[in-house]
Amino acid sequence: MSDYPAPALYIDGRWLDSGSAGSLPVVNPADESVLGMLPLAGDAELDLAAAAARRGFETWKREPAHARWETITRATRLLRERAGAIARVMTLEQGKPLAESRREVLLSADIIDFLAEEGKRAYGRLVPPRSAAILAQAVTRVPVGPAALFTPWNFPMNLPARKIGAALAAGCSAILKPAEDTPGSAIELVRAFHDAGLPPGVLNLICGDPAQVSACLIAHPAIRKVSFTGSIPVGKHLGELCARGVKRYTAELGGHAPVLVMADADAQQVAKLSVSAKFRNAGQVCASPTRFLVHRSLFRLFVDTFVAGARALRVGNGLAPESEMGPLVHARRLAEMETLVEDALACGATLACGGRRLPGAGFFFAPTVLTDVPDQARVLREEPFGPIAVVNAWDDLDAAVAQANALPYGLSAYLFTRDLALAHTVSARLEAGMVGVNHYGVSQPETPFGGVKESGYGSESGQEGLAAYLDTKLISFANP
Ligand code: NAD
Repeated sequence: MSDYPAPALYIDGRWLDSGSAGSLPVVNPADESVLGMLPLAGDAELDLAAAAARRGFETWKREPAHARWETITRATRLLRERAGAIARVMTLEQGKPLAESRREVLLSADIIDFLAEEGKRAYGRLVPPRSAAILAQAVTRVPVGPAALFTPWNFPMNLPARKIGAALAAGCSAILKPAEDTPGSAIELVRAFHDAGLPPGVLNLICGDPAQVSACLIAHPAIRKVSFTGSIPVGKHLGELCARGVKRYTAELGGHAPVLVMADADAQQVAKLSVSAKFRNAGQVCASPTRFLVHRSLFRLFVDTFVAGARALRVGNGLAPESEMGPLVHARRLAEMETLVEDALACGATLACGGRRLPGAGFFFAPTVLTDVPDQARVLREEPFGPIAVVNAWDDLDAAVAQANALPYGLSAYLFTRDLALAHTVSARLEAGMVGVNHYGVSQPETPFGGVKESGYGSESGQEGLAAYLDTKLISFANP
């Protein structure tokens, strides 16, 4: 496929079209065709990448913050210029509609720009000394060091952008391991930095066997910081590996977002808004609204409107302009959706629409709405990470809040009400790192994105995103 770049590794400023661990096909989820062969790094390339990142750090940390900002923003200008072509790459490998891909490229540029600006404001402070012999106590903020960054396939540019943007703005070097399912978008992101003149070694890209790569890089003495986005079991495992070397760690591990719809909300308006929020990126979004808890007085109207919206969605190849929802990324996600639906029905849930894979090539699954789902159903406890919504009715607010908070997840939660007092009290009671009141837009370049409980450790984006790549260092000056 000519629109798709030849997959390559990038180490020390050079592209490598082969790796010592063989290669893997990159598959288009819309038609199951092979887009290219991805070279896989073995120990030899991992060592090279770690050594390059160590050297790159020595160069990059000495650059003034303003000079770093200049290089980084040259790269984001290139991203914006290339947005159309990169969006095609993203849709080919990930499946989301072209318009969503394009928005993701442009948003990634915005995220990186914000962090690059914040890099110029990584202020320290002067603390008044206790003794006259001390001239000054300077609290400074210094880059942590070379970072190993692990990103999944659902937002193949946005998630690398959050990590790379923060690392480079703080003065760290980085090795990115994007998901092997979707390397092309990450390659285009790295290419923009290469073309912008980023010095060799500052940013490297490798793919390989995820468990081997993470074990090797996290244990490597050159690596000082690790950031991971993905599933909770893998996030816990990487956290354990980091603890062995006391490496700084940020983890964004998904969620199972509740949506509380109060009796005073506009059921139809909320249901319409919820259709686009739920089925964006085929539901493969960690902050995707999934557990709709609707006051019983609105339940019927909400379900009818929501189901009508879900049925009307045009599902198809993301390259077709009319497509509103693309395929799932992988056959394994399709199988998981089927299992979750079967289990819910066996537990006594009602299937309001969808619930099946679509015929023909590609990993397409119909937008699915389950109602009256009993607590013991797996879909109410495990993140579906796909186009499945659960809608249940509630009568008692305390019980509904308890249900919203019942899971080990705590990434995002949403609340719809016109009552200001309820908006304040209920949002305060929801156990989540981000609460959207009357909207779903909790992920912005300027605001911190992160979860509580098992949904994560630390935040990305916003000032917090930069802080995750900075250590605090005190320098205390006395008279000689
Ligand atoms: P997975 O856990 O196998 O993989 C998720 C990501 O982690 C992939 O990019 C994979 O390459 C990487 N990974 C896996 N094992 C690793 C290891 N030992 N070291 C480093 N990286 C490793 O899951 P999956 O089948 O790709 O997706 C399924 C689940 O993952 C979803 O149900 C969802 O819960 C979670 N997920 C979450 C996010 C998120 O944004 N938080 C994104 C993608 C997937």
